[in-house]
Amino acid sequence: MNIPKTMRALVAYGPGKYALEQVPVPEVGPEDILLKVEGCGICAGDVKASHPVARFWGGDGMPGFCEPPFIPGHEFIGTIAAMGGAVSDEFHIGDRVASEQIVPCGKCRYCREGKYWLCGPHNVYGFKSFLNGGMAEYVRLPRGSRNYVIPKDLPLEKALLVEPFACSLHGVRQGRVTADDVVVLAGAGTLGLGMIGPLRRCNPRKLIVLDMVDKRLEKAREFGADLVINPGKEDAVKKVLDLTEGYGCDVYLEVTGHPSAVQQGLDMICKGGRFVEFSVMSGPSTIDFSIIGDAKEITMRGSQLSPYCFEPVIRSIVDGSTPTDGVVSHMYPLEQWEEAFRMAEDRSAFKIALIP
Ligand SMILES: [Zn+2]
Ligand SMILES: [Zn+2]
Repeated sequence: MNIPKTMRALVAYGPGKYALEQVPVPEVGPEDILLKVEGCGICAGDVKASHPVARFWGGDGMPGFCEPPFIPGHEFIGTIAAMGGAVSDEFHIGDRVASEQIVPCGKCRYCREGKYWLCGPHNVYGFKSFLNGGMAEYVRLPRGSRNYVIPKDLPLEKALLVEPFACSLHGVRQGRVTADDVVVLAGAGTLGLGMIGPLRRCNPRKLIVLDMVDKRLEKAREFGADLVINPGKEDAVKKVLDLTEGYGCDVYLEVTGHPSAVQQGLDMICKGGRFVEFSVMSGPSTIDFSIIGDAKEITMRGSQLSPYCFEPVIRSIVDGSTPTDGVVSHMYPLEQWEEAFRMAEDRSAFKIALIP
């Protein structure tokens, strides 16, 4: 493959300081893979990082996660254009590949214990200058990256969902859902929608989906929700309690990103229920913790990234048991990144992707 010396890339210098530039194509070391990017989804994290948020850029006594300049984007798909001699022989030039968003260090305690997704340094594509992301014509997958081959005939709008839906699958696994459970999924954005297929495969007694946006609820119904509720229009807690003889749901998956959804979950979950905290919150939640112990003996589980989820997710997107239709709602050429980032914050849209 003929690889140019320079490429178009979106480069982030600071919050609000993003520019489309011509930059050098990454060099390929002996253990690196160079992907020619087909497309890259915009994650909520990418959008948050484009604003002056303390978690990303520092402030409020916190060190920032971002190390500019960097090329954003971890939800990329591409084909192998070049690779070093020491790359595993399971990969070949021309293979279509997706990569887990974290590149584990392999050395910290978490990595040594096989919990690579909790890796201490936590290097994720698209936030640091030494680990650029996929909003560019090419992206380098370094040593330690976790890469997976995707069928070439899988439509791009489905392939782009491999990374986000792998995170969804991990969230569902954390709920340990059985056929006896009434499950409430709070939040039907892209990641929530990605949970519906895996939840259906657990065959729960009832799957109830909550969201403030009716369009998302329609999609959730299309994908297999038994019942949808808009908490902006109906008393969702009362409705779930009424449906369960006053006991409440067995599993509550919090995927809204809104602090108030935590109290809502604690109010509608049954005693002994399982609460999965998945979202990245817009701010802290204030709750009475005694409800977790003394009142209800709730099991709380967190969910981070997508450990051991890529292969099953690729299979289930290919065989259709994870519905995907219409989730990638807009694709923009890289040149229109500003419009694309703006659309990614529009609640009427689902997943937005950039095509370099
Ligand atoms: Zn993401
Ligand atoms: Zn590590």
